[in-house]
Amino acid sequence: MTNVYDAIVLGLGGFGSSTLCHLAQRELNVLGIDQFGIAHDRGSSHGETRIIRKAYFEHPDYVPLLLRAYELWSELESQTGQSLYEECGLFLAGPPEGEVISGARESANKYDVPVDDVSLDEARERFPLFNFEESDAVVFEPEAGYLRVESCVSALVNQAVAAGASVVTDQPVVSWSADPGTVRVITDKETYQATRLVIAAGAWSGQVLNELSLPLTVLRKLLFWHGVSSPVWSEATAFFFERPQGCFYGFPSIVGQTVKLAEHTGGLTVEDPLALDRECYPFDSEPVSEFVRRTMKSVSPHAARHAVCMYTMTPDGHFIVDRHPKHENVILAAGFSGHGFKFTSVIGEVLADLACEGSTSLPIEFLRIDRPALSV
Ligand SMILES: Cc1cc2nc3c(=O)[nH]c(=O)nc-3n(C[C@H](O)[C@H](O)[C@H](O)COP(=O)(O)OP(=O)(O)OC[C@H]3O[C@@H](n4cnc5c(N)ncnc54)[C@H](O)[C@@H]3O)c2cc1C
Repeated sequence: MTNVYDAIVLGLGGFGSSTLCHLAQRELNVLGIDQFGIAHDRGSSHGETRIIRKAYFEHPDYVPLLLRAYELWSELESQTGQSLYEECGLFLAGPPEGEVISGARESANKYDVPVDDVSLDEARERFPLFNFEESDAVVFEPEAGYLRVESCVSALVNQAVAAGASVVTDQPVVSWSADPGTVRVITDKETYQATRLVIAAGAWSGQVLNELSLPLTVLRKLLFWHGVSSPVWSEATAFFFERPQGCFYGFPSIVGQTVKLAEHTGGLTVEDPLALDRECYPFDSEPVSEFVRRTMKSVSPHAARHAVCMYTMTPDGHFIVDRHPKHENVILAAGFSGHGFKFTSVIGEVLADLACEGSTSLPIEFLRIDRPALSV
């Protein structure tokens, strides 16, 4: 047996690529395995851009992790000389007592995140491409922006390889097993052995970790690119609206001809991620088209193109980042619930800590696998 490593990372999407990079930079002999190629479009880490922000409406406990995530993205940019993050700013709009505005204000207050409370008159002046409701509160975060998602994944894998990692692609893992001090990973072509295993299988986590019966639901999510008729869209900020119909968000125009938009809420359940339906149906596009008609100026209500992606939801919408409850040399990261990408830099560091030291100094208690919300 020649395929023996210090650690194996199963899955090289957002979280796996980052973990591989952190482990390789700690001089471990590490192997990353994926069933597809690097920065592919069959999982959850594709579609051009991902929002990153610190006034985190989902829960204030994420903010310390975000502060470290920003540092690590910046370090990756310095190491690679690539521009991965664009600080275009982001505004949130919605009812003042809604989850989005009140949650963002709570996180901003607790951790002194710089945000501006923007009056409606000022919002109409500063963000002239949007129609606001009289009942909207608007919060602007200048230090928010977007990450170039495929470039981030490729950069992480390239850095890992430069630090000595091995990578195999187009090899589905068909099974794995663990004993104290040894893990064995079997793909459709080879058997690999290592001291530790990190599992970051995205929408396939339920299958790869089936013995744990994790309460995960995979949702089918569409992204849309709509044509714009104003050059001002290139200078826009990112935006996120909480509306009675759902939450909708989007980005400035990157190439000047289209803007990317999506609905954060909703989505059909996916039974088999490999058989994901990639067609776009009227029930997919209509909520976003209706949002465009009501809220956005100089944007076609009809999508020029679309992509299909997956959210892997936990019951409480919070991630699972922990050691495997039955195998202490197996670490897992799952259930990123449609808001994980911005954290891949820091969670990769956490997973490397857990794999190497068995613990981490980063605050991840709230993401434990044995929290009550996961015992459903
Ligand atoms: C439409 C959409 C918009 C989003 N917007 C944002 C946003 O604005 N901001 C944000 O922070 N987050 C956002 N997210 C969430 C974020 O993108 C995800 O949480 C994150 O990318 C998930 O990364 P992952 O590593 O868990 O999954 P993936 O990137 O899918 O990686 C999992 C990998 O495991 C591999 N794999 C699985 N099983 C096996 C196997 N048996 N053998 C070999 N390989 C295997 C897969 O091929 C895949 O490459 C969005 C997600 C979607 C879908």
